[in-house]
Amino acid sequence: MSKFWSPAIQSLVPYTPGEQPKVLDLIKLNTNENPYPPSPAVNEALCSFAIERLRLYPDPDSSQLKQALAQYHQLSEDQVFLGNGSDEVLALAFMAFFRQSKPLLMPAVTYSFYQVYCDLFQIQFRCEPLADDFSIDLSRYSEQNGGIIFANPNAPTGIPVPLTEIEALLQRNRDSLVLVDEAYVDFGGESAIGLIDRYPNLLVTHTFSKSRSLAGLRIGAAFGHPELIAGLERVKNSFNSYPLDMLAVTAAVASVQDDAYFRDICQRIISTRESTVCALKQLGFDVLPSASNFVFVRHPSITGSDLMQFLRERKLLVRHFNRPGLDAFLRITIGTDAEMQTLIDTLHSHPQLAG
Ligand code: PMP
Repeated sequence: MSKFWSPAIQSLVPYTPGEQPKVLDLIKLNTNENPYPPSPAVNEALCSFAIERLRLYPDPDSSQLKQALAQYHQLSEDQVFLGNGSDEVLALAFMAFFRQSKPLLMPAVTYSFYQVYCDLFQIQFRCEPLADDFSIDLSRYSEQNGGIIFANPNAPTGIPVPLTEIEALLQRNRDSLVLVDEAYVDFGGESAIGLIDRYPNLLVTHTFSKSRSLAGLRIGAAFGHPELIAGLERVKNSFNSYPLDMLAVTAAVASVQDDAYFRDICQRIISTRESTVCALKQLGFDVLPSASNFVFVRHPSITGSDLMQFLRERKLLVRHFNRPGLDAFLRITIGTDAEMQTLIDTLHSHPQLAG
C-alpha cells in the first residue's frame, strides 16, 4: 500500500486470482462460463475475417452489432449501448446515473461488483435484506432512493424475480433509475426488455459471456430509453474508452444471427441443471430454485468451505463465498452432463455422503 492511494482504493479487495487458474486439467464450475463452444457461425465469421482490416481502428459505435441487437430485441439502435463486457457497461452506468444525493438501493446479497463500483465512484448505497427464502423482495424498496439495481435472476442465488414485480417497482419509482442486470436471464428468467418502451426509467444489461459462450471476447450491452443510452455514450466518450474490437463485433454479430444454436445451448444447460438439482437433492443438499446456469446449494451437515476444499483436491472448482450468511453455500456452475456426473460421483465419495 502507498500513501498516495486514495481511501476508496485502500479498501478494495482484488478479485481472487484462484478463480481463473492457469492450469487446464480442472473441471471449472466456479465462474459461470458456458461449457459449450460458441456457435459454429462465430467460427466461420472469424475464419473469413479479412486480417488486412486489423490495421484500421474499429468503428467507434460498433454499428453492425447495435443493428443486430436492435433487430433481435425489436428495439431501435438508439436504445442499444455496447461495452467491453457487462462489467464495463455497469461501471459506466454507475458513473452516469447513480451519483445522487439519495442512496442507491440493492439487495444485501447480489453481484458483488455493485458495491465495488459504489466504493470506487463514491456512491452512497443501502442494502435491502432478502426475503427468508432468499428471493429479492422488491416491495421492501422504498421510493426514497437514488436508483435501484439488482440482478435478475439474482447472483449468486440464481432465483428469478417475476416480471410483474419489476413492472410494479418501475411504476412506483418513476423518478429514479431501475437497472436490471440480466446476465443470466437466458437460462429461464423473464427479460424486462419488453418494458423499455413504456418505462424511460428502466435500463437492462446483458452479457455475451454466459449464454453466448463468448466470455473471452468481453462483450456487454445495455438497453433502455434513448436518453439513458445517450448518457452512457456521453460518459464513455468523455474519456476515450475503448470501442469493441473488430473481432468481438464480428463474433457477436454471428452469434446473434444464429438463434437456433443459442436456444439449443440454453435448453441443454437448463436440462442439465434440472438433472443436477435432482441428484444434489438426493445427496441431501438444499438447492435454491435456479433460473440460471448455476445452482446455489448447501448441505445441512458439511460446511461450504470443507466441500469446496474436498472438490478442489479432486480437481473440481466450485465457488465458495466467505461471507456471513453465505458461507454454508456453494455456487456450482452447470457444465456438460459428463462434468456434472463427475461432480455427483465425486460428492458420492465424500465420507459423509457415501452410501
Ligand atoms: N453481472 C452479473 C450478475 C455477473 O455474474 C457477471 C459475471 N460475473 C457480470 C455481470 C459481468 O459479466 P461480463 O463482464 O463477463 O459481461
